[in-house]
Parts: sequence; C-alpha cells; structure tokens
Amino acid sequence: MMEHLLEVNNLEVKFKLRTGELTAIDNVGFTLDKGERLGIVGESGAGKSVTGFSIINLISKPGYISGGEIMFEGKDLTRVSEDVLRHIRGNRISMIFQDPMMTLNPVFTIGEQMAETILAHKNISRKDALEISVEKLRQVHIPSPETRLNQYPHEFSGGMRQRIVIAISLLLDPAIIIADEPTTALDVTIQAEIMELLLELCEKNDTGMILITHDLGVVSQVTEKIAVMYAGRIVEIGSTENIVANPLHPYTKGLIKALPGSRGTGEKLYQIPGSMPNLTEMPKGCAFHPRCELAEGECFSKVPELIQRGNFRRLAACHKF
Ligand code: SF4
Repeated sequence: MMEHLLEVNNLEVKFKLRTGELTAIDNVGFTLDKGERLGIVGESGAGKSVTGFSIINLISKPGYISGGEIMFEGKDLTRVSEDVLRHIRGNRISMIFQDPMMTLNPVFTIGEQMAETILAHKNISRKDALEISVEKLRQVHIPSPETRLNQYPHEFSGGMRQRIVIAISLLLDPAIIIADEPTTALDVTIQAEIMELLLELCEKNDTGMILITHDLGVVSQVTEKIAVMYAGRIVEIGSTENIVANPLHPYTKGLIKALPGSRGTGEKLYQIPGSMPNLTEMPKGCAFHPRCELAEGECFSKVPELIQRGNFRRLAACHKF
C-alpha cells in the first residue's frame, strides 16, 4: 500500500478551561501526498487553523492534542520531542500566516532573517546562506534581490512582505507548506497574484500544500482535494472537482451557494442562516442542525458519521445521504 506523505488519523484537540475540558477538534483525519494540494475550508470557528497548527504542534496553551496521530516521514508528530519538532518546523513543514509580520521580525533586515533561518538548519557559510536567500527572493519575483536583502520589513508593501514570507517558507525546500489564510490581509488586486505565485512554486518544487481558508472560491481554483470543516469536525472530504460540482453536505451546499457569482446578476448574495455554534454550547446530534433546512429525526440526537455515502466518491457526515 502506498504510504502518504502526511496522514492524520482521529485527531482530537482539547482546551483546558476552569469549568472543564472543551473539544475543539474531533476525530479529524485526512492524507496528503507529495506535491498534492488540500484545502481546508469553513467559516471562522470551524477549527481549520487549529487543525493546521496542530500538524506541527503550534497549539498554544490551554490547548493540547488529546488524541489521534499525525504520521509524517515515518514519525508520529504527536509523540516526538520538541527538538525533533523544531527541526521539522520550517525545514520539512513550513507555515505561512495571514499576517506577514507574524513571521518577519521588524528589527532585522530581510537578509539577516533569511540567513538565520537557513543557518539554524544547515551547516553552511553565511555567504552561501545569503546566496540562497537572493535566489529565493528572485523566485518570488522581488526586484533587485541583492539590494533588498539589506532592507527592513517596513520598507516593503504588504504584498511584497507576503512574497518574502513565501520565500522564507521555501528556503529549506520543505515537503509541505501550510498556508493559513495567506491572502486575507492583502488588497484584492494582490490576492490573486500571491495565490498564483504560491501555486507556481509548489508545482515547480513538487511541494505539498495545505491551504486553510474561508474562501471556497480560492480553494476550488488552487487545490485538488477539499476538507470542509464545521464545528471542529470534517463534514465532507473528497476531490475538489467532485465537491464543487456536486456537493453532498448541506453546509458545503450553502458555502457554494454563498460564493459571489453563483447567483444571477442583481440577486442578493446568499448567506447561510444563523452562525457557527460556540464550542461551549454545541447542539446535540448534528452540530449543523440549527442551520439546516433538512434537519429532522436523528439529526437532533445522533452525530452523523463521516463515511462514504451511496456511490459518491467522497466522505460526508450527514444522515440524509
Ligand atoms: Fe442537516 Fe441532518 Fe444532514 Fe445535519 S445530518 S446536515 S441536520 S440533514
């Protein structure tokens, strides 16, 4: 059987509160192969970012991984030491955040930051590290990279800063990039450029990508596989083509209906009624039932399993299929 580059099984993340423990991620599982692109979509509070962060154990306290496994290159990342994780972060799996300043340090030049990142993982000279940095800046289309290496983050525009963050994420030729809403903080005109660049570089280097976003439109253009999350669980997962053309889960259907351009001109944009439940007040049964017009019977009492439904080549968690 072919081994996947990354395999997440039954992942569970909890938060310790004074009043008890709260399950933020429940029974989440997916795989990623070399060079494959997976989109994790859902509204704010669905658990997308917590899922992405947990892959390299960046969950901050009081959160912690309470169950499941994250298999990567023969190791279960939920069980390795902090030293091993530190080596994997940035080196084999790197992260791109929404705000470039979460990665960039304002008091150091771009060149210093890039060289330090390389030298923390590779035994090469500073001169060689700077040469690699120049090459990576060139790949993300930063003009005059030799000169710009000596500048500070504030001397770049938001779009340029995110290009630099992409260059940093690629410095050590990682196997996987996890991009958490990488274009949300940018101007609309720059968003498409940055997404195109990310796609171009992942394709060129055969890098796997996990794209975390609320924007199903972006995901449908960039990824090959989609996991739709709702209230800490995956509610539908399958090929992007199948899901976009023929969504099964009522929540996925709502997200697609809410895409700009999915309705006739002049018609108001559709919005899924209601909002994501608070994790402290999760509805019984299917968590989506208060917002679902098909809810009836066991929807109110039984959590639907994520399984293959009928002849559809994907998994969905809904009693109606
Ligand atoms: Fe709607 Fe019931 Fe399906 Fe949940 S299980 S999405 S409430 S039909």
